Amino acid sequence: MSQPMPAAFIGHGSPMNAIETNAFTEAWAAFGAALPAPRAIVAISAHWDVPGGGVTGNEYPPTIHDFGGFPRALFEMRYPAPGDPALARTIADLLALDGKRISLGWGLDHGTWSVLTHLFPAAEIPVVQVAVDTTQDAAFHWQLGERLGALRDQGVLVLGSGNIVHNLAALNFGADEPAPWNARFDADISAALERNDRDALVGYAHHPDAAIAAPDAEHFAPVLAIAGLRRPGDTYRTIVAGSLLGSISMRSFALG
Ligand code: ZN
Repeated sequence: MSQPMPAAFIGHGSPMNAIETNAFTEAWAAFGAALPAPRAIVAISAHWDVPGGGVTGNEYPPTIHDFGGFPRALFEMRYPAPGDPALARTIADLLALDGKRISLGWGLDHGTWSVLTHLFPAAEIPVVQVAVDTTQDAAFHWQLGERLGALRDQGVLVLGSGNIVHNLAALNFGADEPAPWNARFDADISAALERNDRDALVGYAHHPDAAIAAPDAEHFAPVLAIAGLRRPGDTYRTIVAGSLLGSISMRSFALG
C-alpha cells in the first residue's frame, strides 16, 4: 500500500523570496526535491481571504501579482502550472462549498507561487488554490484541513502558505534576530504542533503574545489547516526556521 502524501506548511515571508536564493528558499527546494512527485498540489494561501470560502477552478490559473512596490523582476514572474478543475470540484464537495464558490476570477497569488517556484520549479504539477475565510474562526480552519486530509491518499500534496508570526506594523529593518515575542510565540506554536495540541493551536489567540505576534488571522489560518489534517502516526518536523525583520517567523514544517 502506498504511503499517504506528507502535508506541509511554508512560512513564505517576503514576496522577494520568489526571486532570491537564501537559507529559506534552499530548504524549500530541498524539501520539494525529496518528496514523491505529487499528482496535484492544493495550496491554502493566506493571500486569498474570501468570506464564504473559495477554490480556483481555472484550467490555466493566472499568476497574480498581489503586491506593490517591489522590483519589476517580481512582476515579470510567472508560475505557469496548470489547474485541475475536476480536483476543484472534489474540494468543493469536501468543503461543502456551493459550486458558485469555484472561482475562475482568481489564480495563483504570491502566497502560492513564491513558494512553489522553489518547491517545484518545473511548474508542471497541477495546482488548485483554496481560500482562507477570516470571517470564520480558528476551529473552522482546523476543520478545513481535516476535510482535505483524504486527498493525501490520492497523491495530492496539501500545502499551507502563511506565517506563524506575522506583524508588518512591527517590521524592524535593522533586525537580524526575532523580537522576543516573535521567538516565544514561534517556539510555543512549534511545541504545540509537535505534541499535536489542538486546544493550544485552535486557542492560539489566548497566548500572551498572540496580539502582537499573530494579529493577522489570514497568515495563521493555513497553520491551523495543515495541523488539522494530521493523522495518528504522522510526525512533525521543521523544514526550516528563522525570522525576518524581527516580526515574521519563517518556520516551515511538514507532517507525514
Ligand atoms: Zn504573506
